[in-house]
Amino acid sequence: MNLIIFGPPGSGKGTQAKKISKYFYIPHISTGDMLREAIKEKTCLGKKAQKFMSNGDLVPDELVVKILKERIKKEDCKTGFILDGFPRNLEQVELLSNILKEIEKPIDLVINMIVPEKELTKRLLGRRVCSSCNKNFNIYQQSLKTFKCPVCNGELIIRDDDNMQTVRNRFKVYKEQTELSIQPYYEKDLVIEVDGEDTVENIFENIKIILEDIFDKD
Ligand code: AMP
Repeated sequence: MNLIIFGPPGSGKGTQAKKISKYFYIPHISTGDMLREAIKEKTCLGKKAQKFMSNGDLVPDELVVKILKERIKKEDCKTGFILDGFPRNLEQVELLSNILKEIEKPIDLVINMIVPEKELTKRLLGRRVCSSCNKNFNIYQQSLKTFKCPVCNGELIIRDDDNMQTVRNRFKVYKEQTELSIQPYYEKDLVIEVDGEDTVENIFENIKIILEDIFDKD
C-alpha cells in the first residue's frame, strides 16, 4: 500500500495520515515533520531549512529529496508507506517517480483532501501541536483547558508557520506550485477525493472504507 495524501495547508492530511499509518501498519512519512525535527535538533539541514519554513516557502528540492530518499529506502517501507507533504511541485513528482522506479514501488493511490480556503485559515490559526507526541489539536474543535496535551501532558505550542502572514504565503505557494503537482496522478487515474470538512473520525471512516475496498484488508 504505497500512498500519497495530498491537500492544501490545514486540510487535515497530517492528522489523517497518522490515523492511516496506525490502522494499516504503514509508516507515515511527513517531510514537514522531518524538517521540523531537523530544526529542533539544530542539524545542518535544519539550519538551512528554517528560513524557508518560517516564511511559508518551499525548502529547496535537493534538501527535501535527500531526506525523503533516505527515509523511503528504509526496511519498514517495504510493505508500504503514506507520504504526507511530498511531492509539492512538478520537479518533486519527477524526482519521486525516479526514486520509486529505483526501489520498484509504484504509487498505488493518492488521497486528495478537499476543504474550502475559508475553513483552512481558521483551522491553521487555531491549530495547537504537542511538542512531545506531535499530535494536532484545534481550539475551535476541542476545548483545550490548559496548554497541556490531553493525551500525554506535553506542552501545546503554535507552529512557527501558523501565523496570518505565513499562512497567506503558504496558500500562494500551494496555488502556484503544489496544486499542479497532483495533476499527473489524476491523469493516471490514481486519485480519490475525500471531503475534508467532516469530523476527523468521519473522514477517517470514509478513507478506511475506500482503502479496505481497494486493498482488501482482512
Ligand atoms: P507541512 O508540515 O507539510 O505543512 O510542511 C511545513 C513546511 O515544510 C512547508 O511550508 C515547507 O516550508 C516545508 N516542506 C515540507 N515538505 C516540503 C516539500 N516536499 N518540499 C519543500 N518544502 C517542504
